[in-house]
Amino acid sequence: MSKQITVKFPAPLPAEIPCPVCRYEEGLKGNGCVACQFTGAIHITVDAKIPIQRAHIIKYVANNMSVVSSELTKLFGLVPEVETKEVVDSELGQFEIIQVSSLGGAVWIANRLDEFAPPKYFYTLKELDLFKKGIENGGR
Ligand SMILES: [Zn+2]
Repeated sequence: MSKQITVKFPAPLPAEIPCPVCRYEEGLKGNGCVACQFTGAIHITVDAKIPIQRAHIIKYVANNMSVVSSELTKLFGLVPEVETKEVVDSELGQFEIIQVSSLGGAVWIANRLDEFAPPKYFYTLKELDLFKKGIENGGR
């Protein structure tokens, strides 16, 4: 198994942790020490970080994509990247293939350039390739 990658985040403060010096709470050593003033707990008010497995963060982002993407737009002005991938000339017309790339993946829009027609939307690369093959073969 590969080593789990963790990311450190600031812990909510103030926080209290079992004293790592005497480990009194775990009943392992002694009855408290000067570090914890014999309470077995240490009060933290500065710079505590907690490691979180990166896989949990990725899962959270995947499960909360719409919230995360709207927050990214709000906080950082991040928007999906929109670009023309190609222009396909065919017997069935001239189509501009637009790719919209976002945190959640990419989608494609085929827009007719030579005449007015409603745009077509593709949610997988396979669907787009089928459409392109179709128009390149003149619908045959
Ligand atoms: Zn202690």
